[in-house]
Amino acid sequence: MRSDQHTLAEGEYLQTLYWLHEAGLPMTGANVARAMRLAAPTVHEMIGRLQRDGYVTRETDKTISFTEAGERQAAEIVSRHRLIERFLTDVLGIPWDEVHEEAERLEHAMSPVLEQRMRAAIGDARTCPHGHPISAGSRIPGVPLADVAVGAAITVLRFENEAEDLLRYLRDAGLDPGLEATVVESGPDEIVLDAVGRRCALTRSVAETVSVTADPSPPPRVALPEQLVLASQRYGR
Ligand SMILES: [Zn+2]
Repeated sequence: MRSDQHTLAEGEYLQTLYWLHEAGLPMTGANVARAMRLAAPTVHEMIGRLQRDGYVTRETDKTISFTEAGERQAAEIVSRHRLIERFLTDVLGIPWDEVHEEAERLEHAMSPVLEQRMRAAIGDARTCPHGHPISAGSRIPGVPLADVAVGAAITVLRFENEAEDLLRYLRDAGLDPGLEATVVESGPDEIVLDAVGRRCALTRSVAETVSVTADPSPPPRVALPEQLVLASQRYGR
């Protein structure tokens, strides 16, 4: 733990809230419960604690908002997480589908000095290996790959869902943040890309969680909350 006063559990919740906030999804207890795969009463209790400790406020319609301190701490945690992920892939050579859970464990134990050294070690990398900005809050707007029409040219911006099983699926399918491709099939079950002669196929539900820029582009739409699952296991593992 650093000098911030939040507990480990509070940090996990602040991180999830920030992901929702950044993705443009409503910050509600229901969305937090879905993202963390936790039961509603558990989440309700912890949101109450975050409120008492001055990190969030709750409106009468149950929407959660960050206080200034809450938003700052949440952005710090998220940024540190992404920095560690980038360090693990670029400096230690760990595949990008294996670093999310490792970063979850490491982010609580880092001193400011180590953090500074890691920032120096990653050079001019600006995103985590899944495409999320290390400087939290500065993300490029994208559209879900599932919405893109056949014939459109796409660039993969980021994977909205960092559950390890999903990342492994995306890696096996041949997708990478930064990948340029053309959509060649868009069926009810499957989306197929052509990446310079290489065929990448993924299910439509997974394509919902992949943000891209496209030309021509469909109208903007955020990923559905049901699909934004951030933790593959319950907190407290
Ligand atoms: Zn990441």
